[in-house]
Amino acid sequence: MAKDQKGNGAAPAGSGYTYVDHKFDVVVVGAGGSGLRATLGMAEQGLKTACITKVFPTRSHTVAAQGGIAASLSNMGPDSWQWHMYDTVKGSDWLGDMDAMEYMVKQAPAAVYELEHYGVPFSRTEEGKIYQRPFGGHMMNYGDGPPVQRTCAAADRTGHAILHTLYGQSLKHNAQFFIEYFALDLIMSDDGVCTGVVAWNLDDGTIHRFSAKMVVLATGGYGRAYFSATSAHTCTGDGGGMVARAGLPLQDMEFVQFHPTGIYGSGCLITEGARGEGGYLVNSEGERFMERYAPSAKDLASRDVVSRCMTLEIREGRGVGKNKDHIFLHLDHLDPAVLHERLPGISESAKIFAGVDVTREPIPVLPTVHYNMGGIPTNYWGEVLNPTKDNPDRVSPGLMAVGEAGCASVHGANRLGSNSLIDLVVFGRAAAIRAGEVIDRAAPIPPINEKSVEKIMARFDRLRNANGGTPTAVLREKMQKIMQEDAAVFRTQESLAQGCKRMSALWSELKDVKVFDRSMIWNSDLVETLELENLMANAIPTVYGAEARKESRGAHAREDFSSRDDAGWRKHTLAHVAEDGKVTLSYRPVHTEPLAREEDGGISLAKIAPKARVY
Ligand SMILES: Cc1cc2nc3c(=O)[nH]c(=O)nc-3n(C[C@H](O)[C@H](O)[C@H](O)COP(=O)(O)OP(=O)(O)OC[C@H]3O[C@@H](n4cnc5c(N)ncnc54)[C@H](O)[C@@H]3O)c2cc1C
Repeated sequence: MAKDQKGNGAAPAGSGYTYVDHKFDVVVVGAGGSGLRATLGMAEQGLKTACITKVFPTRSHTVAAQGGIAASLSNMGPDSWQWHMYDTVKGSDWLGDMDAMEYMVKQAPAAVYELEHYGVPFSRTEEGKIYQRPFGGHMMNYGDGPPVQRTCAAADRTGHAILHTLYGQSLKHNAQFFIEYFALDLIMSDDGVCTGVVAWNLDDGTIHRFSAKMVVLATGGYGRAYFSATSAHTCTGDGGGMVARAGLPLQDMEFVQFHPTGIYGSGCLITEGARGEGGYLVNSEGERFMERYAPSAKDLASRDVVSRCMTLEIREGRGVGKNKDHIFLHLDHLDPAVLHERLPGISESAKIFAGVDVTREPIPVLPTVHYNMGGIPTNYWGEVLNPTKDNPDRVSPGLMAVGEAGCASVHGANRLGSNSLIDLVVFGRAAAIRAGEVIDRAAPIPPINEKSVEKIMARFDRLRNANGGTPTAVLREKMQKIMQEDAAVFRTQESLAQGCKRMSALWSELKDVKVFDRSMIWNSDLVETLELENLMANAIPTVYGAEARKESRGAHAREDFSSRDDAGWRKHTLAHVAEDGKVTLSYRPVHTEPLAREEDGGISLAKIAPKARVY
């Protein structure tokens, strides 16, 4: 039964759910940096826009971003978009798409100035310009160095400042927010067009059907598929789950970034800005070991490299602590005034989570899951791709993805620090521009496909009434341990094959899930179960994609295939996940052509041709 009105109370138990229907030009799912920038851009053009979010907008994980946002402003020394592009290409280990990378780095300075004008309180230089700090993998002179100061920062609370500013700006325009609504699934037409989304209002238990000409997934990453992650508990890859259930592929899921400096034990992040400001890592012999592995960039080599070196040191018996299982990060040599001014947040985190006074003692740290390079494949306008053999860039109509949920792909096999925040605002904006072009304002909003909704609600109802023998938390912990043990920093055929087997077995165990709470109002047990299914839909292609990829590239480092194989593997993995958990892999070519040729002011092709990646 459909009611085209609001506030008609809780839906009854069983399958007879009552619906509240809405019509919008655009529905954005997610209110992190990317979702808010997209929402703002859509609303600005007069498109009737809804933004649905499961947490209050300013609680999205973007709020936790510390270090900063990359753009070649040249405020602290020479820089250029070409250098930024080179670093991004090299950081991606030549898996990123050149057109998308070029688009991002070229748009980056304007995007940062736009944020400044929106009101982001950036830290300042003496002359009042935006302060920029060095960050891993960002160098001068096409990688020759020295490190460039490119990362624009608001102390160590950059994400906080950006998210609050963007939320304020979104409210200025006429976007309608649906806060604490959990998006369940995409409504798809019979011929595969996305025509909306079904969401559950956690607060009053109503089910809402949103019809739209365009749905934008901005649901963030899936760090919580692993046991130790810097990401919020809400980072459960819900967009990836929805896309997989809609029969669309996920891309490059095997590339999972470990941040070198999660606090040992809690996983809470210590920003790379700490090393940018002069912090360094030492092993149990008191050695600054990064000098040995990366003589030029040292502690500021890119994240995959530093994480791997730390893991090597620990495996070779040079870890610190009672169990020799972590590494020390020293900041105690830095001027306390600098720590206070530039890194106040992490000084507090180190105190709370490690009991350490950073002005006197080192912080115990360990590589911790931090970012998902893979996600929903898109072009650089944010349009979701549903590739075929003949057309690897085929657009899936009615659907876009931006931010960490998407894969444009600007980060390829490894993301550089501070390149995500810039990705959020550049591609959030690009998606809005593109939507303005492709949406036919005169056309009617598509009708609801009842069959698609029935399927969505049958799944919801099945989970709500799940009465097996295993609580959600038990299954979730099993998944997190498998991923941490079998698909982490170091990978071998043996560990990955075992990971595939264990994850497939776990998929079958999902049938035995037990949900204790049957209510519709703030049923966090059911929310976590829906999230677990989403996490599984992201985790399983991660381990299958990794098992299949017989090379080492960026964050995907195999001990048995230790070098990069461009002839065989410079290609994107596509993974379809079936309802029974079966993963089918295929591949699509990397875009090797930048947008502009050198003669038209572009970057020289010779500069971005694949070569060995040394820091
Ligand atoms: C601790 C930490 C520090 C970081 N520091 C930096 C940094 O300094 N520089 C940098 O460039 N990058 C940094 N990153 C990475 C970067 O912050 C993230 O990649 C980025 O913020 C992700 O933004 P997003 O818009 O994609 O999603 P998020 O900010 O994660 O937001 C996701 C949104 O989707 C909504 N959502 C999800 N599922 C549903 C659903 N089912 N229904 C409704 N709504 C849903 C959520 O409510 C939320 O609003 C950091 C990451 C972490 C974890």
